[in-house]
Amino acid sequence: MTDYPHLLAPLDLGFTTLKNRVLMGSMHTGLEETKDWDRVAEFYATRARGGVALMVTGGMAPNREGGVFPGAAGLFSAEDIANHKIVTDRVHDAGGKIAMQILHAGRYAYSPDCVSPSGVKSPISPFPPKELDEDGIEKQIADIATAASRAQDAGYDGVEIMGSEGYLLNQFLVTHTNKREDRWGGSYENRMRLPVEVVKRVRAAVGSNFIVIYRLSMIDLIPNGSTWDEVVLLAKEIEKAGATIINTGIGWHEARIPTIATSVPRRAFTWVTKKLMGEVSIPIITSNRINTPETGEDVLAEGCADMVSMARPFLADPHFVAKAEAGAPDEIAPCIACNQACLDHTFGGKISTCLVNPKACFETELVVTPTTSAKSVAIVGAGPAGLSAALTAAERGHKVTLFDKSHELGGQLNMAKQVPGKEEFFGLVDWYKTMVSKSSITLQLETEATPSMLSDFDEVVIATGVLPRDTKIDGQDGPNVVSYIDVLRAKAPVGKRVAIIGAGGIGFDVAEYLTTDDSPTIDLDAWMEEWGVTDPALRRGGVAEGGAKPEAPARQVTLLQRKSEKLGKRLGKTTGWIHRAALQMKGVTMIGGVNYERIDAHGLHVSDGEARENPRVIEVDTIVMCAGQVPLRSLADELIAIGRTPHVIGGADVAAELDAKRAINQGTRLAASL
Ligand code: NAP
Ligand code: SF4
Repeated sequence: MTDYPHLLAPLDLGFTTLKNRVLMGSMHTGLEETKDWDRVAEFYATRARGGVALMVTGGMAPNREGGVFPGAAGLFSAEDIANHKIVTDRVHDAGGKIAMQILHAGRYAYSPDCVSPSGVKSPISPFPPKELDEDGIEKQIADIATAASRAQDAGYDGVEIMGSEGYLLNQFLVTHTNKREDRWGGSYENRMRLPVEVVKRVRAAVGSNFIVIYRLSMIDLIPNGSTWDEVVLLAKEIEKAGATIINTGIGWHEARIPTIATSVPRRAFTWVTKKLMGEVSIPIITSNRINTPETGEDVLAEGCADMVSMARPFLADPHFVAKAEAGAPDEIAPCIACNQACLDHTFGGKISTCLVNPKACFETELVVTPTTSAKSVAIVGAGPAGLSAALTAAERGHKVTLFDKSHELGGQLNMAKQVPGKEEFFGLVDWYKTMVSKSSITLQLETEATPSMLSDFDEVVIATGVLPRDTKIDGQDGPNVVSYIDVLRAKAPVGKRVAIIGAGGIGFDVAEYLTTDDSPTIDLDAWMEEWGVTDPALRRGGVAEGGAKPEAPARQVTLLQRKSEKLGKRLGKTTGWIHRAALQMKGVTMIGGVNYERIDAHGLHVSDGEARENPRVIEVDTIVMCAGQVPLRSLADELIAIGRTPHVIGGADVAAELDAKRAINQGTRLAASL
């Protein structure tokens, strides 16, 4: 008897059956644009082997003007169709099913040729869109239908029509972007004509035995978004037009409310999908911040949907479903919703991968194979770098001993998990503990490794991490100065007025920690209040009257840096705005371009710019040092001095811009090559 009877139940679609209720949602990984079709095929086939019922590809452009960016992948030629056939064949051989997403970006296309209902420029794109005329609209419909029939020719099991997230079809639906007065604008019946017509024409093009998913924006999270009545009406018309399944989209890309970041509570929007249950008779899929089989099971058992969509969790662990089926959910590598290696890569023009699983999207390149000559491997440091090296080396058959002077595994991850909004890090540390306990690794905690202890090992890996940087500010040894480690690990007392020196990732995290008493991430009602989310039946688009209503800050915090650029500029591309907005809501004062003159009992003395103008004291009770780190590599140096050649990874190697993504990637790759 499984713990997940709803999640693992098959779903009969009439002409075909899905083997369980799990959909791998669409992700733009950048793989298709590499044109390395063996690599694309292996990415999807790996996930098909992992047991997911149905996968949706990244968005494929139906035509040049609809591509998310110039050169975006699509099925434009016989050669494209043949290439996609490589993928679908491999997926089918692996026992999976795959649908191709057709994504027309409309005014979100990063191109001067972008088109839209009314020429209203998007706040997140530099290009004013061209208003479509009647012929232009007909061309878009015809191109989407053609893309669907080409997907069928390429062997796909279905298509997903992207109707949410503020892309073209969504742009027609709301007056925010549709100002037309012809039959494609004005009344809601007119505004929904395009999405409904698209579904009808796609169905006509592909026949009845082909999955057509329509991704419907259930809560737009923008002013003048759809009302709930409009959402329900659209869903009914989409069903009538021939869709097989309705999938859920949450929020437009331009919405200033986070929808998938780690600080969003788990399953934060399943209540929205639940409202649609019973309104249509085709299956409904829910999505966003579902990352464990338990959560998926609860969502289905509570009648919130017929299926769950998870996207990023399949980057973190392609075998999510197989492990749930096998009764080993604790072995599923958790997606911590950080976006650092997936969406941040996409928006940075890089191939997606995963912080937790660097093999994601690198299946043909980073291959972990059993070793032919087992070695004894000592790994010093059980943070993310050391842990990933240890697990990979042990998986390959090496005899691994893992040392750490702490009593627990996880290194700096144990500090990250203390930060409100980063609760997912608990799961990551727990996963490492599980995997180490189930491996052959010999664990030596509370042990400070010395060169003599390491003398008999064939290979030594130093992953000893970092030390806080010495800022050499006059007065830094005073009783009112603490480091981020004192605050996050030792829970050092901190006064009501605080200055934070350093506004990198850790400075922002500490500011969040010091201003927040109760994390809204574990209280959905509080989170919705904080960000101004409400029921779309009450307010258009689900944007609460009066907007965000954050809790009063627990402390008065000033966050400082020496650079004169905007604070938080170097945080993650897709999450930096959330961290900045969260601190602004907490009234955190952000000051750049300062010199730290000295610290005394009054507080922190600063001045501005090179000319050291405007000398003043920021009167605070406590000053927290978050000024970056330097490598802790004394053990490596001692080993080198006696003629050993240790491998140095993670922060012990390069501390600058270190994060768990680089540490885990480096640890995994080293161990794959030992
Ligand atoms: P960081 O990002 O390098 O930031 C260090 C901060 O200290 C900067 O604001 C820097 O600004 C300041 N600083 C540097 N030298 C200083 C000095 N001598 N005196 C005073 N201030 C100095 O490092 P971090 O915040 O410690 O974070 C470490 C790593 O963890 C980073 O790579 C970060 O991306 C990662 N991390 C990521 C997240 C996340 O959410 N993605 C969260 C936490 C940490 P100025 O030089 O302008 O003063
Ligand atoms: Fe999840 Fe982060 Fe991996 Fe993206 S990089 S899949 S958000 S853990």
